[in-house]
Amino acid sequence: MVKTDIEIAQEQTLTPIVDIAEKAGFLDDEIEQYGKYKAKISLDAFDRLADKEDGKLILVTAINPTPAGEGKSTVTIGLGDALNKEGYNTMIALREPSLGPVMGVKGGAAGGGFAQVLPMEDINLHFTGDIHAITTANNAIAALLDNHIHQGNALNIDPRRIIWKRVVDLNDRQLRHITDGLGGPINGVPREDGFDITVASEIMAVFCLAVSIDDLKERLSRIVVAYTYDRKPVTVGDLQIEGAITVLLKDAIKPNLVQTIEKNPALIHGGPFANIAHGCNSVLATKLALKSADYVVTEAGFGADLGGEKFLDITSRELPKHPDVVVIVATIRALKMHGGVPKSELTSENVEALVKGFENLKKHIDNMSSYGLPVVVAINEFITDTQAEIDALTELLNEINIPVALTSVWADGGAGGIELANKVVEAASKESDFTYLYDLDLPIKEKIEVIAKNIYGADSVNFDKKALNQIKEFEKNGWDKLPVCMAKTQNSLSDDPTLIGAPTGFDITIRELIPKLGAGFIVALTGAIMTMPGLPKVPAAMNMDVDSKGNISGLF
Ligand code: ADP
Repeated sequence: MVKTDIEIAQEQTLTPIVDIAEKAGFLDDEIEQYGKYKAKISLDAFDRLADKEDGKLILVTAINPTPAGEGKSTVTIGLGDALNKEGYNTMIALREPSLGPVMGVKGGAAGGGFAQVLPMEDINLHFTGDIHAITTANNAIAALLDNHIHQGNALNIDPRRIIWKRVVDLNDRQLRHITDGLGGPINGVPREDGFDITVASEIMAVFCLAVSIDDLKERLSRIVVAYTYDRKPVTVGDLQIEGAITVLLKDAIKPNLVQTIEKNPALIHGGPFANIAHGCNSVLATKLALKSADYVVTEAGFGADLGGEKFLDITSRELPKHPDVVVIVATIRALKMHGGVPKSELTSENVEALVKGFENLKKHIDNMSSYGLPVVVAINEFITDTQAEIDALTELLNEINIPVALTSVWADGGAGGIELANKVVEAASKESDFTYLYDLDLPIKEKIEVIAKNIYGADSVNFDKKALNQIKEFEKNGWDKLPVCMAKTQNSLSDDPTLIGAPTGFDITIRELIPKLGAGFIVALTGAIMTMPGLPKVPAAMNMDVDSKGNISGLF
């Protein structure tokens, strides 16, 4: 019987977090313990480390996800352990899981097999309370906004044009569209409203891009929450509450330190969705890791067309450096799915489908290389992979001179990632010639066209009337110099989730734009993007339990 992730996690003996922190070079005064095995690191550490050179940055991304699963987090953690095993001082920087997917489809999100971060139960559940703090900060803005209207509406806010939603960190489709403020004049102003999942909120994006408490406050004050009756934007700053909202986040903003199964340091902090937001952990955590270690492994959500592109064009602009190397994770199973094989037939050998599905990986390699960065492919090995399939994929990559390593970190921990670690170190030692995909000064339409044509492979972009009107309005408001955060399905390079492989001959349609001035980007919506997911018929929650001693089971 193969052990589940939680069974493997529960068999481990954890090292006290103070020892892990000390090993990572943090001072006693910088370690704020949350129980025995979790700590926050004080932002004072940045002052001490200010003059230290930044380490090498390794970005882990993937092919377009399929129901077969790719194992990005697993490879990220395993690669970190492998680098440490090889004597490279390495720290991991990862996202915090959201309770929505944990209770819904996914179970845990703290790696898998022998490449996990611990304590996995805490990390997957309430952890150090960051997501609760973000939820509260978001909902405080909503409460203060509605109160402003109730108390006389000095700012002339049009209740029909409030774009700020309440949030909860659960998949709860029941709350997508609601009517609130009912019950007569003493109970508020009735209006249409709705909830998003916390990790899709702008607060989460702001939290992950802020570089200091002052920057956090400044970004919060810029958030547009509504429009007036004469269509002028109303911000958090207009409500004069950015100070209060920053107060609610002042502890959450400190990066969280935990350990891997192999007792190496990992910072787990912030977790924005990669469809509606930029999809990677906090800039503060990555910056702290870069100052503390010689190598930093971080992960961008979904495929390289979404998380990868956004990391390079949005997050990198806030970091002291761009990545030195990009690792693209692929599995033979998923490539066979991109080659047309249904999920039920993935366990049978099928070299032909693998070769066909390779086009998806190839497009992502070309895309990441186009930024001037070296690319290494990690094949995340599954027990069903056959030698013929492994050889065929290796050969395809050799032909295009892309380093590839078969990686068994899920089964073997760091020992299964040694070849990958060495290839990554070699690639990272080369001088890179990084360029952003687009110049921020380009008009909004052109920025979107560059992403759609170059990264997705689209022929052209159609803009719905609403989007065109918004572009004009954004230009008038002076919001057109921001990067664009594309909201697109993760399952395809196109905006149609059913188009697998590397589709050609398609257009992308932009329905609507959303200004996220606090985060500092403009979201461009293609298709229907879910900001409040629903639960499946058999949610992961139905497998979970806890015994009389408090031991959890079924968390994947
Ligand atoms: P992603 O980051 O791409 O969403 P994860 O790393 O979270 O994927 O892995 C998803 C699930 O797949 C986890 O439960 C993990 O244990 C499992 N998994 C990952 N790699 C393997 C593998 N090589 N063999 C079997 N299961 C794996």
